[in-house]
Amino acid sequence: AYWPASGELRVENLSARYSSDGPKVLHDLSFHVASGERVGVVGRTGSGKSTLTLSLLRCIFTEGNVYYDGIPTSAINLENLRSNITIIPQVPELLTGTLRQNLDPFDQHDDATLNNALRSAGLFELRNDGDDGRLTLESDISSGGGNLSVGQRQILALARAMVRGSKLLILDEENLTDSPDYKTDTLIQSSLRNELRDVTQIIVAHRLQTIMDADKIMVLDAGKLMEFGTPAEL
Ligand code: ATP
Ligand code: MG
Repeated sequence: AYWPASGELRVENLSARYSSDGPKVLHDLSFHVASGERVGVVGRTGSGKSTLTLSLLRCIFTEGNVYYDGIPTSAINLENLRSNITIIPQVPELLTGTLRQNLDPFDQHDDATLNNALRSAGLFELRNDGDDGRLTLESDISSGGGNLSVGQRQILALARAMVRGSKLLILDEENLTDSPDYKTDTLIQSSLRNELRDVTQIIVAHRLQTIMDADKIMVLDAGKLMEFGTPAEL
């Protein structure tokens, strides 16, 4: 059977630290996210939101259990795990190369699929800095993605989630107070609500709107889960 069939996530007593003998940064988080739900994660700076996103992909030291589609992630090899879940960090790093190589590093998809994803995500509407032309699959991405704004890099990562058919998307939203990139933000919000509507989404939220229309809201404080419920419940 094709795995993962859905994007259900169950987390039990998850704790995390950044080094094996370092302090716990997340304390005993337990929660369940049904397939297709969108969860907005909120909390003040340093509360552990980004740490949670890293923990779900076992990028740092964790204790406890994470079940993805009923399978403990400890039983899934990391390559398989990370190719089925798309995580978009606050500042995505890109590969130096073309847009195509970033979107489809293993050359598995045809041009129509890649172009459709870029169009849906809205990347073609954006211009490349210092370049008059629009972006194409062959546009160069300079080291780490330096010639794209952070928002544009997040849009590219969303297009990659579409191409891969990820069932679970974890997005660490760019903090708009740091970078008032409203156009890219509108595109990102539109992708999350349209093309990626059926994908389970865990969104570290900096916007009121993300929280208002989320299925569930998670409130973190000092690495602890303080609240988890529907907007109406909280
Ligand atoms: P923000 O809203 O500013 O993005 P956040 O909620 O994402 O904050 P985290 O980055 O998860 O917060 O940080 C949680 C705690 O983990 C903080 O005490 C922070 O200092 C610590 N921390 C974060 N990254 C590291 C790291 N690479 N090594 C050690 N400690 C870290
Ligand atoms: Mg963060």
